[in-house]
Amino acid sequence: MQQIIMRNFKDLVSQIYSESPVSLHRPKFDGNEKKYLVECIDSNFVSSVGQRVVDFETSVAKFTGARFAIATVNGTAALHISMLLAKIKPGDEVITQALTFVATSNAITYSGALPVFIDVDRDTMGMSPLALRKFLESSCEKRDGVIKNRISGRRIAGCVPMHTFGFPCRIKEIVAICNEWGIPLIEDAAESLGSYVGEQHTGNFGLLATLSFNGNKIITSGGGGMILTNDEMLAQQAKHLTTTAKIPHAFEFIHDEIGYNYRMPNLNAALGCAQLEQLMRFLQIKADIAKKYAKFFQEFPSIKFIFPILGSRANYWLNTIILESPAERDAWLAYTNANGIMTRPIWRLMSSLPMFKNCQHDGLKNSYWLESRVLNIPSSVPDGLVTPIYA
Ligand SMILES: *Cc1c(COP(=O)(O)O)cnc(C)c1O
Repeated sequence: MQQIIMRNFKDLVSQIYSESPVSLHRPKFDGNEKKYLVECIDSNFVSSVGQRVVDFETSVAKFTGARFAIATVNGTAALHISMLLAKIKPGDEVITQALTFVATSNAITYSGALPVFIDVDRDTMGMSPLALRKFLESSCEKRDGVIKNRISGRRIAGCVPMHTFGFPCRIKEIVAICNEWGIPLIEDAAESLGSYVGEQHTGNFGLLATLSFNGNKIITSGGGGMILTNDEMLAQQAKHLTTTAKIPHAFEFIHDEIGYNYRMPNLNAALGCAQLEQLMRFLQIKADIAKKYAKFFQEFPSIKFIFPILGSRANYWLNTIILESPAERDAWLAYTNANGIMTRPIWRLMSSLPMFKNCQHDGLKNSYWLESRVLNIPSSVPDGLVTPIYA
């Protein structure tokens, strides 16, 4: 049975994508990318000072509805600065998911803190508000306004949920719990540009949020990231810290704290501006592809095609299926990759990586379940005329 489904799936993928082999997610440059890059080179402003950086920030802020957006060299740098701005200090602990890309946990450790891993929901693949509440109520206490982990004795200084593959997690419930406990919330929205909860874009729910424009994301600036916030003070500090903490002056070099060289170069921002012009079109095309996949998998109840939960909208950055068993998932991985269709498993849990294996976790029942069953399937914006494919 699986053999027949896999063969039919291969036919479907080759109807959508003419490339061979079919990649999981490759970038698409058919707008003003080359024009803006040439203009940028001709202007001589290719590095971290330039109009395109400001334009890109303004456009991303407008698109996401965030009051402020600060461009960085990559998403990991955006996360690092966000940890510092949230006042996460050495020896603190930060709650996050074990099921995420390694950058989330790495950035927590850059601030000297340790990640604590809690479980995800099976339907969103993102942080579970139930697991968060259970961890706080069973392991933590609030004394003199400070949240302490009773097991480790450390301060809980932040919470970093992530919207896996562009499917929004239950962020409103997580916000409510973090507010109740007084824990700063930093949203890792690296994968969810174009994803919404209600009418609110992801990345607008916490103190700070971060985006990534790496080459595999829904739009790319080559490398790049963005810090989003609605707090003017934090926005100013973010700009300051990412630009070597230099005090603005016509000719003097004065720096008033240890800063970082994390500003996005103008060349990358030029590419980002051209890509952002395409985002609405990409979202439409990706929704169409998801519809096609959904229709296909609807006929096979043993395979679950992931949809956003009620009240949220996904960007369908990476289409995702959940197979019935780890053995079936492995069979799919082997078959598709041997037949010119790139598919990928989800990340190994952070809690099983050597550098995080001693970090506290809550058992991670759903995370383990998903780790061995999830498969990402080809999700790029296809080449050529789109209309005949979806007609
Ligand atoms: C891509 C990504 C990042 C940031 O990655 P960069 O490559 O540094 O831009 C952070 N978190 C998640 C979940 C990501 O997918």
